[in-house]
Amino acid sequence: MNTDLSNMDLKNEVFCVVGLGRSGCAAVRLLRRKGAQVRAYDARSREELSQVWSELEALGAEMHSGQLSAELFAGVSRVVLSPGVPPAEARRFATAVRAEVLGEVELASRFIQGQLVAITGTNGKSTVTRMLGDILERGAGPVFVGGNLGTPLSEAVDTDAAGPEGVLVVEVSSFQLEAVKEFHAHVAVLLNVTDDHLDRYQDFAAYAAAKGRVFAAQTAEDFALVPDGDAFVTSLAKTGDAEVLHFAGERSVVRMEGDALLSRDGALRLPLAELGVSGQHNAIDACAAASAALLLGAPVENIDAALRDFRGLPHRMQLICERAGVRFVDDSKATNVGAAAAALRGFGSGDARVVLIAGGRDKGGTYAPLVEPLMRVGRAIVCIGEAAPKLERDLAQTSLPIRRAATMAEAVRLGFRLADAGDTVLLSPACSSYDMFATYAHRGDAFAGAARGLRDAPRGTC
Ligand code: ADP
Repeated sequence: MNTDLSNMDLKNEVFCVVGLGRSGCAAVRLLRRKGAQVRAYDARSREELSQVWSELEALGAEMHSGQLSAELFAGVSRVVLSPGVPPAEARRFATAVRAEVLGEVELASRFIQGQLVAITGTNGKSTVTRMLGDILERGAGPVFVGGNLGTPLSEAVDTDAAGPEGVLVVEVSSFQLEAVKEFHAHVAVLLNVTDDHLDRYQDFAAYAAAKGRVFAAQTAEDFALVPDGDAFVTSLAKTGDAEVLHFAGERSVVRMEGDALLSRDGALRLPLAELGVSGQHNAIDACAAASAALLLGAPVENIDAALRDFRGLPHRMQLICERAGVRFVDDSKATNVGAAAAALRGFGSGDARVVLIAGGRDKGGTYAPLVEPLMRVGRAIVCIGEAAPKLERDLAQTSLPIRRAATMAEAVRLGFRLADAGDTVLLSPACSSYDMFATYAHRGDAFAGAARGLRDAPRGTC
């Protein structure tokens, strides 16, 4: 099947877009702009989709809701599957009509001539995507920054950044990578792979294999960028044809040496203390972003300036406020155990300690990686959400006080009561938010609101 869609007349092609979240809607708009016939489907009803339904219908898409059915796929040549949709059923129908199944990122990439940079990994994708975007935006050429973070890649099509001079920095999740085939990144960065989404994948190997697909279509002219010293991630990179390069460690494009980030030729030398963000994991992320930027030919002064100015993204180790000497830090984006462990490892082991608020919807796997850092820096643990009983079991061996809270406000009050002056109450949940909140951002906002609301509450009385 001819897959170069940019030169194809799509008028006689019928696409079915399954799942009308942000990226699904962007795919419908792109396909209608290109003249294709589009069936747009979501399990949610017309009423639930409300404006989305009317907007896409006005663009000429044929709208469908309810159960997936064979009729929806009749005559369809390509199916665009949204990352949130469990793929099995849609794939079954698509296979029956011999339609090609692709994701929104794959679809968009087939209309793009600019250089793609793909950033994936269990943790740090958004941070590195934004860091690299900030560096490249200081240069003269057109740049797009988005993908799983912010603007879907489809919206870059037909902009200057998608032209031959452009660079597109694209955050890609494992769900999006499941459906890529020809998506071809000139620089593909795999930051790390630790337990996550084990509620969707059969096992860790299947999850890691999805991440590894980022390298599949790379050629010998491309670069695969992986953490130095991580043999497993390096082995995934070696499954493709790209040149494999490293970041952060000794043999890296940009390494951490002593208290500085350092490029191989020494032209980039940035003291860690002068990075706009703190903590080991942010320093590693900065090495990854700087390495990718050097491979893309970015001037060293732009890398240096952007990394000094980068202040971090909301809900990632964000200091909210201080009450009676207790700091409240929102790390709601820590939706898996690796991110929460990284957050705890960022704290020193002096007298000041951490009261951890964790829990939410469990994703499979174990919370055991939190035990060691909690034993080093923990003061107490407050558990919330569906995962609370499992967390209590997995963390019992820390011997720290463990309490349970029914709401975020109660968790914050309890955390405050358990903390001493100088301590930090840290929301780093190690779980998704969907049992109690619509998104991780709502969860972080609830934490911040409750912490700010403590203004007049004397400690020990709440
Ligand atoms: P993602 O987009 O992959 O979810 P984010 O940059 O949004 O990554 O960060 C998510 C969480 O992971 C935050 O809690 C952040 O502090 C943590 N984090 C960021 N970089 C790393 C890293 N290199 N290793 C482990 N955790 C990290």
